[in-house]
Order: sequence, then structure tokens, then C-alpha cells
Amino acid sequence: MASIPKSGYGYPNHVARAFLLELENLMGKNGVSAMLNRSGLEPWIAAPPPEDTERGVDFAEFSALLAALDDLYGPRGGRGLARRAGWAVFPQILPLMPALRSVADLPGRALPAPEKLGLALQALAEAFTSASDQQAAVATEHDAFVFKVTRCPACWGRKVEDGPACAAIDGLLEECIHWLLGGEPIRIEETECIALGGTSCSFRIPRPAP
Ligand SMILES: [Zn+2]
Repeated sequence: MASIPKSGYGYPNHVARAFLLELENLMGKNGVSAMLNRSGLEPWIAAPPPEDTERGVDFAEFSALLAALDDLYGPRGGRGLARRAGWAVFPQILPLMPALRSVADLPGRALPAPEKLGLALQALAEAFTSASDQQAAVATEHDAFVFKVTRCPACWGRKVEDGPACAAIDGLLEECIHWLLGGEPIRIEETECIALGGTSCSFRIPRPAP
């Protein structure tokens, strides 16, 4: 696997740690060791990123981790694992990111679903933009919200040809929506990906019925 030059942009230690530990639940210790060896992150086998909010993980490291998953399990399998890890990581980061903590009572508020969803996505975009060097914003279309990441830790420095690469973010968004609105888990589509040549990694979320 080609190594990805350091970006100088940082991702929160606790988020990368939660992903890593969740991947260990899904793949076992040996699977995670193989992934870390392949991504040049051997030191994380003995010492994963600490559980703090420092931006200690370079985007290139997080992205290399996800690239190694694709390499080991194929794009379909690797991104399936990244997506499932994202589901489990969302509730763990919720109490640790101030912008998300401020909407912790949102699921119980008496607001129409589209309004709630707009507020939650905005909070998620702010949480990552303020707590990391990820840049995210939410655009509103008449039948959908679009969560746009213009500096993306999930595909930093990668070029792919086999479909959008940022399934870890799909998973976070899907679990955020499930937490917020309950009901059947929904599937989110990444409609544009920087690793595919796009200008942003964009995730289209259909507007729910009020
Ligand atoms: Zn991306």
C-alpha cells in the first residue's frame, strides 16, 4: 500500500480511538493488527490514540487505516466494516463533543422531523469543524439535506476508482439520524467523494416526513 504523506491536519484522538476499538470488536485483535501493519501504524497495536480530545491523529493516518481495510477485505467488505464502526462510534462521541452535547435533548423535543434533522446535522458539522481540522457544512435542498465535507479525514490523500470511500462518515451520519428520529435505520448515499475526484465528500440525506 502506498503511504500517504502527512497532512498537517488533525483528527481528535478519542474519535480515532473509538473507531479502532470498534473495529477490534468487529474483526478481532489479529484483524486489527494486520490492518495497522498494513497502514504503517504498527505503534498503535501497543498504544492506540489516547482517550482525549487533542487533534493528535493526522488525517493521513486515519485515511491510511481505512485504505488498509479496503485492501484487506476488498472495497465492499472494508467499507462495510467502516460503516458499522461508524454506527457504534456515534453514541461514544456524543458526550465528548460540545457542539453535539448541546443538542443531546433533541430527540425528545417536540419539533417536526425535518427541523430536528437540520439542527442535528448542523451540530454534527459544527462538532467536527470545531473539534478537528475536518471542514463540514450542511446544505439544504428542497427534498434533502446534503452534509458536505470539504476537508475529509476519511479519504485524505487517496485516489479510488471503485465508488465513494468515506463509509466511516456514512455510518456516523446514519447512527446520528437513527438516534434522532428512531424507526428503521436508513441508508445514506455518498454522492460525491474527493478520492473519486470530487471537490467535496457529500452525503445526501432525504428529508423525512414532518
Ligand atoms: Zn472523503
